[in-house]
Amino acid sequence: MRGYFYESPDSFEKLFEVLKDNSREIKFLAGGSDFVPRLNLEREQAPKENKKDLLIINLSELGLNTITENDSEVIIGATTTFTEIQKNDIIKREFPVLIEAINQIAGLSVRNIATIGGNIMNASPAADSVPSLVVLDAVFVLRGPEGSRNVEAKEFFTGPGRTVAKENEVLTHIIIRKNKGFAGFNKLGRRKAETLSVVNAAAYIERENNVCKVARIAVGSVAPTVVRCKEVEELLNGKELTEENIRAASEKVVDEISPIDDIRASAWYRRRVAPVIVRRAIEAAIVE
Ligand SMILES: Cc1cc2nc3c(=O)[nH]c(=O)nc-3n(C[C@H](O)[C@H](O)[C@H](O)COP(=O)(O)OP(=O)(O)OC[C@H]3O[C@@H](n4cnc5c(N)ncnc54)[C@H](O)[C@@H]3O)c2cc1C
Repeated sequence: MRGYFYESPDSFEKLFEVLKDNSREIKFLAGGSDFVPRLNLEREQAPKENKKDLLIINLSELGLNTITENDSEVIIGATTTFTEIQKNDIIKREFPVLIEAINQIAGLSVRNIATIGGNIMNASPAADSVPSLVVLDAVFVLRGPEGSRNVEAKEFFTGPGRTVAKENEVLTHIIIRKNKGFAGFNKLGRRKAETLSVVNAAAYIERENNVCKVARIAVGSVAPTVVRCKEVEELLNGKELTEENIRAASEKVVDEISPIDDIRASAWYRRRVAPVIVRRAIEAAIVE
C-alpha cells in the first residue's frame, strides 16, 4: 500500500531541498478544499492500486498570502484565501470583478480556507476565479528549482485538471495590471448559492462615448478549459454598446464553445444559456 508523507517548508530553500527526493510523487497542498476530498477518495481506493508513495507539501508557510501593489500592478500571493481577497482594499478598488466572482464561490467556511492559487492550479473548467483573471490579462508566476517564469492566464490551462506547470513548480503569485476599463462577472449554477458553475463568464470592456474600444470575454464550464471568446470580442470592438449589439455579439459564443453533458447540466442546456451569461457579464462590465 502507498505511503503518505507530509512536509511543511517555511522557505523556498527548504522546499527545493524536499523536492530533490524524486522517489515519491509530489503534491502541493494549499487550503485543501479540492485536494483533501480527492485524497480521501484515493485512500479508499489505494489498496487496489500500486502507486509511488505520496509526499504532500504544505505551501501555507511560504509567506505567499500577501496582496501588494505598485503604480501599474497588483500582486496577489497564491495562498491568499478568498476571504482575505474579499476583504482587501486594493482588490476592492482595482478589481471589484474578482470580489464579485469570489462572492459566488462556495460558502464562508470554504472561502476561509480555499486559496486563489488552489482555484487556478486545480484547473477545473468551472473554476470561478479564472474567467475574471483571463479577461484582466493576469500573469501567473511559477517557481521551481530551475527558477521562476511568468505565464499569461490565457496560455496557462491545457485541459481539465491540467496546466503548463511542471510537477515541481509552485504557483507563487498572480500579477494583474491596473486597467483603464471595467470588468463584470456572471455565473449560473444549479442553485442560487454554494454551487459550482453550469456556465460562468467574465467581460472586460474599455469604451469611449459608449463605443467599445477593447473587449475581452471569457467563458467557463463549456469546454475543457476556460475559453477566450475572440469572435464575441470582434463583434463588440468598434461598436456602440447598445442592447442590440451586445445581444448579437453574445450569441456568437455558441460557435466558440464545446460543452459536454455532466452531472450539473447537459451540453444542450449549456449552449442555450451561455449567450445569456456572456451578455450579463458584458452588461455588468458597463454598469455606470
Ligand atoms: C463545498 C465546496 C464548494 C465549492 N464551490 C466552488 C465554487 O463555487 N466555485 C469554484 O470555483 N470552486 C469551488 N470549490 C472548489 C475549491 O474550493 C476551489 O477550487 C479552491 O479555490 C481550491 O483552493 P485550495 O487552496 O483549497 O486548493 P487545494 O485543495 O489545496 O489544491 C487544489 C489543487 O491545486 C494544487 N495547488 C494548490 N495551490 C498550489 C500552488 N500555489 N502551486 C501549485 N499547486 C497548487 C494542489 O496540489 C491541488 O492539486 C468548492 C469546493 C468545496 C469543497
